[in-house]
Amino acid sequence: MMNATRFRTLLITACAVVGSPPSDALAARLRAGVAKVDITNTGAGPINDPLFVKALVIKDDATTVVVVTVDAVAIGEIGHIRNDYLSKVRSRLEKELGIKPQSVLVNASHCHGVVCADVDERTFQAVKQAASHLVPVNVGAGVGHENRIMENRRLRLKSGKEADVRHAYALPPDEEVVGTGPVDPEIGVLRLDREDGRTLAVVYNFACHPIMGVPSGGNTADLTGFASKAIEDNLSDGTIALFLQGCGGDVNPALYKDVDNPRNAEPLGNLLGLSTLRALKTIRSKDDGRLKVIHETIALPRADVAKRIIAMESEQQALLQSLQGTSLNLKTFLPLAVKYGVSGDYPSYYSHRYMSEKAAGRDDLTRLDAENRVNMKQYVDNIHIMEQLTRTQTNLALLRKHQADNAAAGSKTVDVEVLGVRVGDFVLVTFPGELTVQTGLDVKQASPHDLTFVAGYTNGYIYYAPTAEQLKNVGGAQEDSDCILAPEWQKIYEDTVAELLKKL
Ligand SMILES: [Zn+2]
Repeated sequence: MMNATRFRTLLITACAVVGSPPSDALAARLRAGVAKVDITNTGAGPINDPLFVKALVIKDDATTVVVVTVDAVAIGEIGHIRNDYLSKVRSRLEKELGIKPQSVLVNASHCHGVVCADVDERTFQAVKQAASHLVPVNVGAGVGHENRIMENRRLRLKSGKEADVRHAYALPPDEEVVGTGPVDPEIGVLRLDREDGRTLAVVYNFACHPIMGVPSGGNTADLTGFASKAIEDNLSDGTIALFLQGCGGDVNPALYKDVDNPRNAEPLGNLLGLSTLRALKTIRSKDDGRLKVIHETIALPRADVAKRIIAMESEQQALLQSLQGTSLNLKTFLPLAVKYGVSGDYPSYYSHRYMSEKAAGRDDLTRLDAENRVNMKQYVDNIHIMEQLTRTQTNLALLRKHQADNAAAGSKTVDVEVLGVRVGDFVLVTFPGELTVQTGLDVKQASPHDLTFVAGYTNGYIYYAPTAEQLKNVGGAQEDSDCILAPEWQKIYEDTVAELLKKL
């Protein structure tokens, strides 16, 4: 059976080849320019691969759209980009290049690399360079497919609650886990080609935390940096690939908690890059003058988790009190765990001794084994309680921080920017936080446009934005704890996006 993604690719290719262009595609040919500037912090220890700010400027006679991608964790609030970055960049672009602030889209890849201090200046330089080298372009859009490199990081537990996969704490025991959430294998792709057929730029959108790291431990743009390099190296000279992070809030790289092999973003990034290149081969560009940008500011409700904090504090107390006295300590437990794991029936000595005791009417070893097994179970139960306490404590700290910040904000709502952009068949909406993958799937499903994509981490950062359903689990996982929003945010955002998509 042909899957939806593949069908969409074929449909778009077919339209590009045999279909007549829509009437509004007869507008003047678009012009575009692209540039990239290194923003690696050279004073922050060893460098594995460079971080970049990349700028794409697309213009017709009436409209200018600027797409900026930054290899950084977020646009302000956390990490190394300061809160005044976006306003500084925008006001300078307006003053010196006449570009309206509302038409500037800045997306953070969410890699955890360390950028230089003057990233705002270098961002301006990248846009200026792109804007001063505009050439006529043909545009094309489509989708690629990649499902090997990522996994949903929220684990559904037998208890009905959810936990998540982090290095900040231990996972629940395997037998408590009954399932995981969805992923979005779609790569949204926009290509801009020069009139002579050479590629100028590729914009691609995918949902996954780029946090795998590299074996050297050096500064890295992580898997999306490697993906962009694979794309750039395999297209026309000078092609620039701009990665737009999608709804990756609850999506991790596959094997993120591996302890047997050095964790390496490069093979994952290469797979993403190759899958994007494969999609590009199916996408024909054409003279399509449709270019639109819509900017909206919406107020989203802030959370009040005071009651949940009190409930979690008593859960924490109950967990502490459930720790039981054990005869064993780590030094005596570990060798027992190995012996009882290797030789279930005769852990304490060779089997013949158990037989000899039985023949003599004794059961000394069997009794010792029974006692050790009780002690080991108590010790393991304590370990699981300790692991649960690490999760509770970490997520409780996040709830307390955001509860304090929300109280200090002096407003029950937070204003956020939402952008809608159309370039030819490529339609994109944005959000300034970590949307989880279900929201991206929902927006795509409900959109009237076939090639609709969603970029989180754009034009600001308001932490995680889990779905209302995920927020029933407040305090259980990072996404629902590292969050300032009340569950009602989701409907407001999705309604706004639905209206915005109609206008694109
Ligand atoms: Zn994140």
